[in-house]
Amino acid sequence: MYFVDVVLPLPLAGSFTYAVPAEMQRKIGIGFRAIVPFGKRKFYTAIILRLHNNPPKGVEVKEIHSLIDSRPMVNEHQVRLWEWISFYYMASLGDVYKAAVPSLMKPQDLEEKFKSKTETFIRLNTGINDIKQLIGRAKKQAELYQALKKLFSEESGKQIPKKEIVAKTGCSDSVLKGLIEKKIVIQYAEEVSRLDKQVAASRKPFKLNVQQQKAFEEINRCFEEKNVCLLHGVTSSGKTEIYIHLIEERLKLKQQTLYLVPEIALTTQLTSRLQAVFGDKLGIYHSKINDSERTEIWQKMLSESPYEIVIGVRSSLFLPFRQLGLVIVDEEHETSYKQQEPAPRYHARDTAIVLAQTFEAKTLLGSATPAIETFYNAKTGKYGWVTLEQRFDNIELPKITFENTQELRRTKKMKTVLAPALIEKINKALESGEQVILFRNRRGFAPMLECKLCGWTPKCSRCDVSLTYHKNRQELKCHYCNKTYKPVRECPVCHEESVELIGMGTEKLEEEVAKLFPDASIARMDTDTTRGKESYEKIISDFQNKKVQILIGTQMLSKGLDFDNVSVAGIISADGLLNHPDFRSHERGFQLMLQAAGRAGRKNRQGEVVIQTADPGQPVYRYLQANDYEGFFRSQLAERKLFNYPPFKRLILIVFKHKDEDKVESGADFFARLLKQSLGEMVLGPNKPLISRIQQYHIRDILLKLDNNLSPAKIRQFIQSVEARFRENIDFRYIVLHYDVDVTG
Ligand code: ADP
Ligand code: ZN
Ligand code: ZN
Repeated sequence: MYFVDVVLPLPLAGSFTYAVPAEMQRKIGIGFRAIVPFGKRKFYTAIILRLHNNPPKGVEVKEIHSLIDSRPMVNEHQVRLWEWISFYYMASLGDVYKAAVPSLMKPQDLEEKFKSKTETFIRLNTGINDIKQLIGRAKKQAELYQALKKLFSEESGKQIPKKEIVAKTGCSDSVLKGLIEKKIVIQYAEEVSRLDKQVAASRKPFKLNVQQQKAFEEINRCFEEKNVCLLHGVTSSGKTEIYIHLIEERLKLKQQTLYLVPEIALTTQLTSRLQAVFGDKLGIYHSKINDSERTEIWQKMLSESPYEIVIGVRSSLFLPFRQLGLVIVDEEHETSYKQQEPAPRYHARDTAIVLAQTFEAKTLLGSATPAIETFYNAKTGKYGWVTLEQRFDNIELPKITFENTQELRRTKKMKTVLAPALIEKINKALESGEQVILFRNRRGFAPMLECKLCGWTPKCSRCDVSLTYHKNRQELKCHYCNKTYKPVRECPVCHEESVELIGMGTEKLEEEVAKLFPDASIARMDTDTTRGKESYEKIISDFQNKKVQILIGTQMLSKGLDFDNVSVAGIISADGLLNHPDFRSHERGFQLMLQAAGRAGRKNRQGEVVIQTADPGQPVYRYLQANDYEGFFRSQLAERKLFNYPPFKRLILIVFKHKDEDKVESGADFFARLLKQSLGEMVLGPNKPLISRIQQYHIRDILLKLDNNLSPAKIRQFIQSVEARFRENIDFRYIVLHYDVDVTG
């Protein structure tokens, strides 16, 4: 007998064994997809992990139903990565598989779901002699025929899609149809790729300047000894250009590069820049591509001519690389690299390092504001460390000043949302034809309704959160479950028309700014105005082309964009960035403000950044003003040590959810008690989280702050044994439970 162990796309631990029918035995291999029965009359696409001769004991073995592939779709590096993620992040292997492989590649029934894309083309029928006669007196047809003849002779040998013909000749459908019916024109369909059309490289990499060249050589030297290197370079120091040179080297070695970016940093600006140098060697994997495109990219990576470079978001880690030589993690400090929901809750930066190791490849982490953990690893010598302290072309770093809004309000000088000094600076910039960016983070400052008499605010009926007011749609919305409500004027407690709008998002800010600068053209960029991919690009290009003078936006604006005419940047309510009950809030605030500041600065003049705050005494502002990353790092590290946070401890959050609050409470209590028997004070909680009910589920959590010297394997084993005992209790069997390893805050 012959058996295989497979992984199924289900949230189940481990692998499952199936028997291989005799006729399949010669055709099967590791990494192939097979359709297997599971449960009652259900079929799933499984991936074969192992072949062996050991029948499982005590259970009936089912047979594989059929094979999908005749070659591996998943390689051994991928399987090793999946297994590591499943192990380290305490997720089931099935969940990792589900996240890794496009859903069209794992159909849940017996049909292959992936369909190739076809396109309709047009060609002239060369086998017809008497075209004139056929056309007769149909004048429009004659015109179109002449136009087509011209077009085809210009584009000789090229296939021309029908769409293009219609666009270029402006012909009507009926005229074209007439020619088709007379067989003068032939219409046919062919399979086409969904991937970007071939783009040719148009330039060589720039020659590096002295500092860049030095950094480039240091990185290479560092890779001789270490697998991971941090490139700590201020904004616009030319890091991207160094990446380009590193990628070039890997190309010469016939090695692939993965260039990871956080979602909001994957802009057209960046991809066009890479495409200009690498042409069609570059594949782009962003979150807006659909599942068919994902599947085609996957297939291309398996083909004879895979992409040599992939620039992509978090999930591009899962593509089938074959000769990976280098992984670049740009903006490595970004917390959006951590997947929150659903499982596997992996951190893309840390996973990238493991992926690189399976290929004996190198990892470069790049940032102007490294994560505290990363900088710690660089300082203690675990990672290499290379710095770039000057902006390219020696453009000065911006000058940062603070406006104390509390003081300004007290002395009645704050007449609008902008401090007078900021207004003056904006006016000056506008007069000199320069541009302005205003940042407003929405978090915590979303507009909402509140009763001015008793403080009542409308909340979601399913979640324990206040509703956000959306002016353009005139509705209240829950940002946790997306349920919408009608705004109210009357307070249900006071029975008065005392409910008012408070707080202010970007939308309100735009309104205020428009009043202050009636002659300026203003645009706003946030998740509301950038639903479609084009709208985002349009706002950026309008700003770049100077059609827009003042750009208002959320943190979306602070990433991956390079504007050359911005002289003033304003951060409107900096306090909102810092006042979050989470151990990373100052780190994040600092990073965001420094990145935002990095958008200001011009060739001949120092840019200016104005930070509005009610509490300018906070130490974080001192470090910001002095551009003192290291000072900030030291202060944070001291706090992390004092309060037992990473890098001194490893965090695991255990989350419990159930519709019955008593049940979830006693379940979490029970779990915590068992954990404390062995882990003692490393167990914190159970806690009622800030938002303790979402979509009718009550939530409790337990935070583990584990000593670094405890082995992840032993900890995992112990926690799983606790979970097993917890599940033995029928009361707790249906409590939803998940782990979040290295939770970001
Ligand atoms: P970073 O990635 O550190 O923010 P970039 O690589 O985007 O910096 O560089 C900032 C600007 O300087 C970009 O407009 C880039 O095109 C330009 N630049 C960087 N290095 C060079 C170089 N060696 N030659 C010419 N232009 C460069
Ligand atoms: Zn009230
Ligand atoms: Zn809700």
